[in-house]
Amino acid sequence: MKYVFGPVPSRRLGQSLGIDPVPLKTCNWNCVYCQLGRSIPLTNERREYFPREDIIAEVEQALASHQPGQIDWVTLVGSGETTLHAGIGWLIRQVKSLTRLPVAVITNGSLLCLPEMRLELSPADAVLPSLDAGNARLYRKLNRPHPEASFKRLVDGLVAFRKEYRGKLWVEVMLVRGLNDTEPALNEIAAILKYIKPDEVHILQPDRPPVETWVQPSDEEGLLRARAILGDIAKVVHPASGSFDLSGTDSLVDAVVGIITRHPMREDELIETLKRFSPGDVSAMLTEMEKCGKAQVVERYGVRFWSASPAYYPILKPQ
Ligand code: SF4
Repeated sequence: MKYVFGPVPSRRLGQSLGIDPVPLKTCNWNCVYCQLGRSIPLTNERREYFPREDIIAEVEQALASHQPGQIDWVTLVGSGETTLHAGIGWLIRQVKSLTRLPVAVITNGSLLCLPEMRLELSPADAVLPSLDAGNARLYRKLNRPHPEASFKRLVDGLVAFRKEYRGKLWVEVMLVRGLNDTEPALNEIAAILKYIKPDEVHILQPDRPPVETWVQPSDEEGLLRARAILGDIAKVVHPASGSFDLSGTDSLVDAVVGIITRHPMREDELIETLKRFSPGDVSAMLTEMEKCGKAQVVERYGVRFWSASPAYYPILKPQ
């Protein structure tokens, strides 16, 4: 499968069947914490990156090959900014015509300033946009957006979307130590959240390999501070544990590459996912994945992560 992956475990969305409508790192932001490498070049162009009919054909196939209870949500998420696909509204409507499962859209929220985008996302059951900064300077530092994707447009879009949207609006705040986990930074985010009025605020931490080597997750104190300042609707979302579904393709290597392209995995997590194979087979498979140029190992925080090979991560400087 080229566009559909998983289900993968998600703390908020249970076992989530992913739909990835754009090529790797097609994005109008270049977040310092992005787990998928750098966005080179940035793009703000909405177009049909992959044929919509081909994407839906895969969704239909994936839904047919799973039993009831194996998938909790169908989620548009992936290796770039989902809403850059010009057919996102059509895709949501088609998925909803195929299944009664709820549909979520994970987006950076930068295009919600467009009235047509707000309309396209309206049939989704949950939309999860980002708000990592409460001022334009920190937004540029953390999210490094395309020049057309200004902070004002982001905030105006979120406020307008909330007014029109009847589904669940869960705003994500990715906490980066020393940048947006300080009291002043959190107070500024809280002030904007008051205008947006989301249903929930999800506090996340970079737990997969951040593209920039200097990015660190917040500490326990920072999480407590965020929880206290962002209010009762805020909750800390810890990384999910659960099983990664490797079915749906003839090749195990392709199934693994399909997941790590959207969802880089810690090496121990990957080995656990492959536990039904002998340690010798797993080791041979990891070697093959790296050698055939489909995957790479990225080291962050002293942990080895597996990611897709075209993703660009600066390497750690030797101490
Ligand atoms: S985290 Fe999301 S919005 Fe940020 S650069 Fe990566 S894909 Fe784009």
